[in-house]
Amino acid sequence: MVYSEMLLKKLKEADAKEGDRISVRRGDEEYVGRLMPHHDFSAPDVLILKMKSGYNIGIRVLGDSEIEVIERPSIVAVKREETKAREGLPNFTLVSTGGTIASFVDYRTGAVRPAMSASELVDAVPELRDIANIKARVLFSIFSENMNVSHWQELADVVAEEINSGADAVIIPHGTDTMGYTAAALSFMLGDVPRPVVLVGAQRSSDRPSSDASSNMMACARFCAEGKAAGVFVVMHEALGDDLFSVHIGSRVRKMHTSRRDSFKSVNVPPAATVRKDGSVEYRGELRPPSKGKAAARTAMDERTVLLQYYPGMDPKVFGPVIMGSRGVVIAGTGLGHVGEPMCGILKEACEKGIVVVMTSQCLGGTTNMNVYDTGRDLISAGVISVGDMLPEVAYVKLMWALANSKSADDAKRMMVEPMANETGSRRCVL
Ligand code: GLU
Repeated sequence: MVYSEMLLKKLKEADAKEGDRISVRRGDEEYVGRLMPHHDFSAPDVLILKMKSGYNIGIRVLGDSEIEVIERPSIVAVKREETKAREGLPNFTLVSTGGTIASFVDYRTGAVRPAMSASELVDAVPELRDIANIKARVLFSIFSENMNVSHWQELADVVAEEINSGADAVIIPHGTDTMGYTAAALSFMLGDVPRPVVLVGAQRSSDRPSSDASSNMMACARFCAEGKAAGVFVVMHEALGDDLFSVHIGSRVRKMHTSRRDSFKSVNVPPAATVRKDGSVEYRGELRPPSKGKAAARTAMDERTVLLQYYPGMDPKVFGPVIMGSRGVVIAGTGLGHVGEPMCGILKEACEKGIVVVMTSQCLGGTTNMNVYDTGRDLISAGVISVGDMLPEVAYVKLMWALANSKSADDAKRMMVEPMANETGSRRCVL
């Protein structure tokens, strides 16, 4: 749908073009923002403005509304920084996968687009070069809802390759939506990786005033530069301000809020460390120190694995075929790890067929304990295993990995209850 004749005339009279900062006034009301392209689904008399906050709003323009251009978009020359390696600094590789952290608002189209080149990515946070020699590569330019198992596999291979070519740390800018899944996948695939491998994201792209992109990236680099911990981690804002950042264990973290800067939380454990704005790092426990060893990626995954959240009234007729067609199923059960009776039957059948059935809890906090109520006991005697305080999505990723890296279903079950990447405190894992 295009603009109405009246609105087209007003835009023409004001000489307002997409990308211009304009004011739309009617009586006492005034809106100022950047003119975005007209959406097909917007009414013909509605203008889309991108506000300073980064959000778009639609404004209905009436016959007596006035439009005025305040500013034309400026063309900013990008200054390329000196990239010669500096002696004495550690060497970090940035492997970008996309997401908001690697994106910029395109003020012509109004869309958020991923960074096109590795240098563009580092130039967005030039202070990184004071901390380390940065080699950057763009592996994917996608939003993380489009990540799948083959992306995890390719990423794990690239991380191992970079470490084995001398990287002291690998930093992975990543979309926040599925960052927890990728962190879990890398945790299992890379095992005892000898250097820090840190995923980092942002809730607002780097050209927005409230962006958390560079502050998260700097905190991430500072943590890596300390050189005190090896393993897979996630670094994101700990609080709403710009002064505290959490380092989460890669197999223990979840995005808990759709938009807040502090949306990432460690679940069932404290964060591994806190990074302050001044660069100091406070560690919360013993972490594995980095070593000179080599990295190896074990990337096989069995994708015949499903993750299901139980809900009251879940119909075994609908989910039976899904479960029976899988090699492994993770259930996010209620409370201590339960499903209703009709679903118990189908899970029992699945266990008898040799399908690995794993119980987690949709409560997230706390641990499964299937010995307390009859439902849980019935599930245990049917062969369902319970994995304590492991997050459902982490159990799902681990089950894919365990099925592909074991000789039998029993072997995979043993792997599921044994902590391999700090994904569970083993207290209540039950085989
Ligand atoms: N949904 C996108 C993603 O996860 C953008 C959100 C973000 O990066 O925070 O990649």
